[in-house]
Amino acid sequence: MRERLRAGAGAAVSTMASDDERNRQRLKQLLEKPGNGKCADCGAPDPEWASYTLGVFVCHSCSGLHRNIAQISKVKSVLLDPWSSSEVEFVGSEGNNAAKAKYEQIVPAFYYRPTHKDCMVLREQWIRAKYERKEFTSAEKQEPYSAGYREGFLWKRGRDNGQFLSRKFILSERECVLKYFNKHDAREPKAIMKINTVNATFQPTKIGVAHGLQITYLKDNSTRNIFVYHEDGKEIVDWFNAIRAARFHYLQVAFPGAAQSELLPKLTRNYIKEGYMEKTGPKHTEGFKRRWFTMDDRRLMYFKDPQDAYARGEVFIGCKDNKYTVLSGLPANTQGYHWQFGITIVTPDRKFLFACETEEDQKDWIAAFQSVINRPMLPQEYAVEAYFKHKP
Ligand SMILES: [Zn+2]
Repeated sequence: MRERLRAGAGAAVSTMASDDERNRQRLKQLLEKPGNGKCADCGAPDPEWASYTLGVFVCHSCSGLHRNIAQISKVKSVLLDPWSSSEVEFVGSEGNNAAKAKYEQIVPAFYYRPTHKDCMVLREQWIRAKYERKEFTSAEKQEPYSAGYREGFLWKRGRDNGQFLSRKFILSERECVLKYFNKHDAREPKAIMKINTVNATFQPTKIGVAHGLQITYLKDNSTRNIFVYHEDGKEIVDWFNAIRAARFHYLQVAFPGAAQSELLPKLTRNYIKEGYMEKTGPKHTEGFKRRWFTMDDRRLMYFKDPQDAYARGEVFIGCKDNKYTVLSGLPANTQGYHWQFGITIVTPDRKFLFACETEEDQKDWIAAFQSVINRPMLPQEYAVEAYFKHKP
C-alpha cells in the first residue's frame, strides 16, 4: 500500500502503457492462430481489424460494414486502437474458426459466399445475414431463397428510355423458369426465362445503382439482358441466391451423377472481361466502330450501349486444338481504325479484328481470350459451336 502511494501517478501511467503493450502483443499472437490469418467475412489475407463483441478478425473493408451493425458488432484496429485486457481475452476465447462454427452452421451449398473482390451489397448482406439476422443457424430464416418459389417486385430498366419501372417477377423451381410481368394484373408474362440458361451477376457500376443486378438468359440461342435492382440490399441478394438455388436444383436433376463441387461453380458466373473496343465487319473494309464487349465464358458479345437488351453480335471462342487463335496486332493492310492496339482473333471461319485504346487494355483482352482458347472444349460446347456456325 505504502509502496503504491509513493510511486505516484507516473507509475500508474507506465503500468497502463505496459498493459497496452502486452495487449497489443497478445493480439498479434492471436492473429497467428489458425483461421485468424484471413478476414472472417471475405477471406482477404492479413486482417488488421477485429470485432470485440463478436470475436472475429476482419479486413479493413469488412470492418467498415461491421460499423453498419454497430448494435451487435464493435470494431477496433488491432494496430492503432487501445485495447482493454478483457476485450483481448474475449477475442482470444472466440476467433474466426469459433465464429464460423457458430454463425455459419448451415449455409446452404448454393448460397453465394462473397470474396474481397465482390461488390459491397453482396459483402454487406453476407455479414448481416450471418451476425444480425443469424440466417445460418436456423433453416426457417432461409425461406426467401430456399423455398423453391419467390415472387416480388423489382425495378427493371426499360428498353426504350432507360427508366426503371416496377415489375412483378416470379421464380419457380418446379416450372424451371424466371418470369416477369409488365402490368401488375397481366396474365401473360412479358418474358419467360428458362432457368437452365439464366445467369445473374451484380453490376453496380455498369447499371449505375449500388444494388444493380444483370440477369441474362438465352432466347433462340441468343443472349438477352435485363437490368434490375431493389432498394433493399437484402431483397436483391435474396433474389440472387434464389436464382442460384433454382439453378442448383435444376443441375442436380439434369446431372444426377455429378458431384456438388462440379455443379456449384455453374450456378452463376461473372464475366471474364468487359469494356470498349473498336471492331470492323466481316469484309474488314467497313470502318471500325466503338462497341461495348462482354466476354461471358466462350461467348464474346458486343453492344452499342453497355445496357442494351440484345447483343448486336455474338462470337463463339473455341479452343486452340480447334483452330482458334488470338494474335496481337492487325493484318498489315488494315485501315479505318482509330485506336492503335490491335487484336486479331482467328476462328475456323474468319478473322475478327479489334482495336483497343491502350496497350494495357490490349494485354488484358488478349489474356482473357487466351484463358478461354487454352481451355479444352466440353462436349456440350461443341453443340454451341455448331449452332454458331450454322447461324443465319
Ligand atoms: Zn473482409
